[in-house]
This record gives sequence, C-alpha cells and structure tokens, in this order.
Amino acid sequence: MTASRNLLRCESCGTELDELDPRTSCPKCGGLLSLEIELPSERGAALRALFDARGSVGTIPESSDIGASGVWRFRELVLPQIPDKNVVTQWEGNTPLLQREAVARWANVPELMLKHEGHNPTGSFKDRGMTVAVSQAVRIGASAVSCASTGNTSASLAAYAALAGIPAIVLVPAGQVALGKLAQTLAYGARTLLVRGDFDDCLRLARESSERLGVYLANSINPFRIAGQTTIVLELLQQLGWRAPDWIVLPAGNLGNTAAFGAALRIARATGLIDSSPRLAAVQAEGAAPFARSFRSGFAERKSVRAETVATAIKIGDPASYERGVRAIRETNGVVLDVSDAEILEAKAVIDASGVGCEPASAASVAGARRLSKDGTISRGDRVVAVLTGHILKDPGILLDYHKDASRSMANTPIEIDAEISAVEGVLKHALSPSGSR
Ligand SMILES: *Cc1c(COP(=O)(O)O)cnc(C)c1O
Ligand SMILES: [Zn+2]
Repeated sequence: MTASRNLLRCESCGTELDELDPRTSCPKCGGLLSLEIELPSERGAALRALFDARGSVGTIPESSDIGASGVWRFRELVLPQIPDKNVVTQWEGNTPLLQREAVARWANVPELMLKHEGHNPTGSFKDRGMTVAVSQAVRIGASAVSCASTGNTSASLAAYAALAGIPAIVLVPAGQVALGKLAQTLAYGARTLLVRGDFDDCLRLARESSERLGVYLANSINPFRIAGQTTIVLELLQQLGWRAPDWIVLPAGNLGNTAAFGAALRIARATGLIDSSPRLAAVQAEGAAPFARSFRSGFAERKSVRAETVATAIKIGDPASYERGVRAIRETNGVVLDVSDAEILEAKAVIDASGVGCEPASAASVAGARRLSKDGTISRGDRVVAVLTGHILKDPGILLDYHKDASRSMANTPIEIDAEISAVEGVLKHALSPSGSR
C-alpha cells in the first residue's frame, strides 16, 4: 500500500493520526478530528472543468461511474485516495436548486433559491456524509458501525450499512423520533435501540460504547461525514455556474453541517473555485438555541440547554461540533439566529403548499431568511440559497396534526363524506366557487 498523504488532526491539541485510524475523536484530549487532505494541483478554471465534465444535476450518469454521485464527483476535495472498490454509493446528492415564487414572497427575499437535500436516497442530506463515512468504514475493515441520532442519521447509516453489508447499531431517543425516520431505520435493518433519554444522552452512549466495543462511530463528529457534507455547498456553487451567492442559510442543530459548510467554503476559496465567499446564516429553533445564544455573546462562552422544539432534527441542547461551527461563522462573517416553532411551522406550510415540501427542521432556514430580510441583514437583491435538509414525508405525524387543526392559518382539513355522489357534488360546488376554497 502506498503511504497516505492525508491525515486526521485534532483541532484542539494538534495530535496527528493516520487517515486509516479507526478513532473518530482525539485519543489524547477527546477533541474533534478534522480530515486534512492534500488539495489537487489543478486550480480555478481547470478544477471547475474537471467537475463539470463529470456532469452536474440533470445529466444522466453512467451506472459504472462513481463520479455520477453528487458527492464523489468532487472526490479530489473530499477523500482523494480511497480505492474505488471501497466506495459505497447510490448516487446521492445531485439535488435540485429550486425557485418558488410563493416562498420567496413569504420570506421577502426575491432572489431566494431552495437547495433541496430531501431529494437524497434516504430523504436527507445525511446521505452525503454517510456515503463517505461508510466507505471509510469498509476501507479500514470495520466490523460494525454505529451512531446516535435524532432520526435522519440513523436512517442514512442503516441504508448505507445495508449497501455495504456490515451491521449497524443506532441509538435514538425513545418517543422523540419522527415516524418516517424510525420506520426507515427499522426497514433498512439496523439494530435499533430506543434510549429513555434525549439525543445528548444517545450521543454520550454511542461514543462510550464505540470505544469499548471497537465499533466505528458514524456520528457527525466523524470527520469523513463532514467531508462528505461539504459537497452540498460545492454542488450548489456548481449549479450556480460557480458564481457564489451572497448568503447560504441552513438549519443548525449539532453543527456538523455548519462546520461542513465552513470547510467547503474554505476549500472552494483555497482552490480558486470561487473568489468571494458567501456569508453563512445558521438558524436554530428558539427552544434549542445554545449556538445562537453563544453568538449573541460574541462566542464568549459555550452554552448548553435542555432542548425543546417541534423540529426534532435540530432538537439538540449541546452541539458536538461547537468549535467547528464557531470557526465557520467567523470565517464567513456569518450570523446565528433562532426562530420560533410557530415561524418554522408557518414557513413549512408555505414551502409545502408550493409543491416542494420539507420536514420541519428544514423550514427553519426559510424562516431564518425572512427574519434576516426583515431586520435588514439580508439586503434586497441579495442572492440567497436556503437549504432544505429533509423530505416532507420524514415527519407525517406533524403534517396530519397541522392540517387537521382548522385553527392553523394554512390548514387543509380533510372532509369525510358518505359514499354518495350528492355528497361529492356538495363539497365540490363549494370548493370550486370563487369564495369557497379554503
Ligand atoms: C441533521 C439535520 C439537521 C441538523 O444538522 P446538524 O449538522 O446537526 O446541525 C437539520 N435538518 C435535518 C433534516 C437534519 O436531518
Ligand atoms: Zn487532541
């Protein structure tokens, strides 16, 4: 085997580990590890041409070509030296960048675009990180993989572990996982532990058990997941013809994605893919906003809270990637804010009714964009990409609760009728009259 030029480095104490080391946090101080890769010799236009030649969203990929994946298309910037035979992929990424008039109007951001990561194979952006983490698990010969999750990570890990043919163990908070996510996790075959506790308890247990049992940990502290998730940004830049937007707005929970976006923009600038950086806006839910609170104190201290929000994917009280998140916000002159559950649900109803749809946490990005437009942080004419992180069907329970509740502003309540044509006619006459539609 040739010597690897990539390495894992502790972000706190600088300890270096080999790229093939199975540990996912620093053995000396417990700090976060980052994957440092040797960047390709191509720069700027040459690198853009390399990626563009492998296609972009909308082109039909060759089934044999792992470059057809929206993650591995950027492999030189993600994980350059992994052998093809170790790569576990199902063409994740390749997600659309959408424009919806009604959503832009609601947010008061005319140049609003929606990067819909719910179009990934298991319905969330987690697949972009998981294809890399599980490929790495295969590469180092891991016997099993595990994670703690609010649902989407477990669904994604379960799927990629099944593709790879290695066992997966997931820990999720009992009674707090959206129905679609739990159902997927079980169906893909992961050993699923419902922990009587919250996400933060699950993460603690996952970290301890993976150390004791030698199971490969695929949580978002895993540097290979972060590397995979950088491609959300790389791909949206490619879709914009490498013309960077002014803002990228994303929901923020454990801050793995915030960290990944910061890393992506760092790499994109270093390699000359873009020459000016967008600003990042990380949006938390009011009841789970430790990062927003830290931001307001100029990141003077790290905070933690007991998290409470309808947006279960960002219901996290003590974000694991805190330091990386701070770096991402600082480097991009970014902002962190929080929005209420009511704003999240209103944004979601608008996104859903536009035909696009997303899960609750995803709508925090659009709710955040509206806030930033209102307070003048986002200027008129700014080009803004809001990331929709998960699919509408992830959380069907919340959809039905909302639409069966006639007091909700956009509720579309179902109408039960007798099985008779007169009953259908009665309803349709009302619905089709100019004033009759809800
Ligand atoms: C994981 C997840 C988030 C939060 O991402 P972090 O990396 O934990 O900040 C937001 N939305 C959805 C749908 C997710 O699955
Ligand atoms: Zn360390």
